[in-house]
Amino acid sequence: MAQSENKVLLIYTGGTIGMGRNPLTGALEPLDFNHLKDNVPEMKYIKAGFDVYQFTNPIDSSDIDPSTWARLVDIITENYDTYMGFVILHGTDTMAYTASALSFMLENLTKPVILTGSQLPIGQLRTDGKENLVTSIELASLTDDSGHAMIPEVCIYFSGKVLRGNRATKQNADEFNAFDTFNYPHLCEAGVNFTFHAHHILKPDFTKPMIPHKELNPNIIVFSLFPGIQESVVRHLIDAPELRGIILRSYGSGNAPQYPWLINLLKKATERGVCVVNISQCISGRVEMGRYNTGYQLKDAGVISGYDSTVEAATTKLMYLYARYDNIQKIQELMNTSIAGEINTSISYLPEDDQ
Ligand code: ASP
Repeated sequence: MAQSENKVLLIYTGGTIGMGRNPLTGALEPLDFNHLKDNVPEMKYIKAGFDVYQFTNPIDSSDIDPSTWARLVDIITENYDTYMGFVILHGTDTMAYTASALSFMLENLTKPVILTGSQLPIGQLRTDGKENLVTSIELASLTDDSGHAMIPEVCIYFSGKVLRGNRATKQNADEFNAFDTFNYPHLCEAGVNFTFHAHHILKPDFTKPMIPHKELNPNIIVFSLFPGIQESVVRHLIDAPELRGIILRSYGSGNAPQYPWLINLLKKATERGVCVVNISQCISGRVEMGRYNTGYQLKDAGVISGYDSTVEAATTKLMYLYARYDNIQKIQELMNTSIAGEINTSISYLPEDDQ
């Protein structure tokens, strides 16, 4: 048996991977870890040793909330020095939110935290769960020549790809290839061998400790523009006194309809300390608010760019920043800075000869 310092901690939260059918309704519901273990007898052949921490009541990831993220931060912090890495078994529906939240909550992470799950329950013959589970444990135990973790960041392993967690999005509800990072390269491909893309992997300061943060402020709203959007509805939303931040999902490269009421409402919101972050409804690409007049007006109203952020990363980052700071300028400044590899702010939209 491996010493615990050579082991991985497998944290089972629930999700399809460990689900079975309710005999009465036929619907899938989470089962405990023994169900999972009984269906993967191969687990005893995994080279890396591992221990299991299981949620007493495993959950469907649609029920995940910031208190679950705080609990995961606690579990990882309490076991940080004992284990070389962490694998979190999690439902796919909100996996990208959890991965994004943890990437901000675990500051200066020097060990792998790999989230995985499956599209088919582990008890089904064609399950994708076995490979995802076994490979994730192996990945979490890998170190380089200097003994540092190969992937010292929060990531998602699914269907042969290691993805940066705060860049990932669930892209498919049916196929095994459930996740991808549309604005960032893969960190590693798991084929016959592992192919790591070292220059895309975060390099934390291994001499410094990991700093856990448990507080989040979820008084955020994600609001998507559409042709015909109504002033009265948006006004109610923006006027909510508890509201701290808005993720505005705009068109294309960050454009909005030129309704004076919309610009005025957004301006009023930013003036009372609500941080409005502009991200694109497109699955890939970035916001460049100076490209068209329709985007420029948002900028003028105090809306800031979310660059190439996913909705999951922008939402959880705002929650994290509002729990740590009450100064809107500081929050806006950090929203425009990559703090865990979640955005790339450096690409200019201007053609070279215009610069
Ligand atoms: N509803 C499930 C969950 O997110 C779906 C899955 O695991 O794939 O927990």
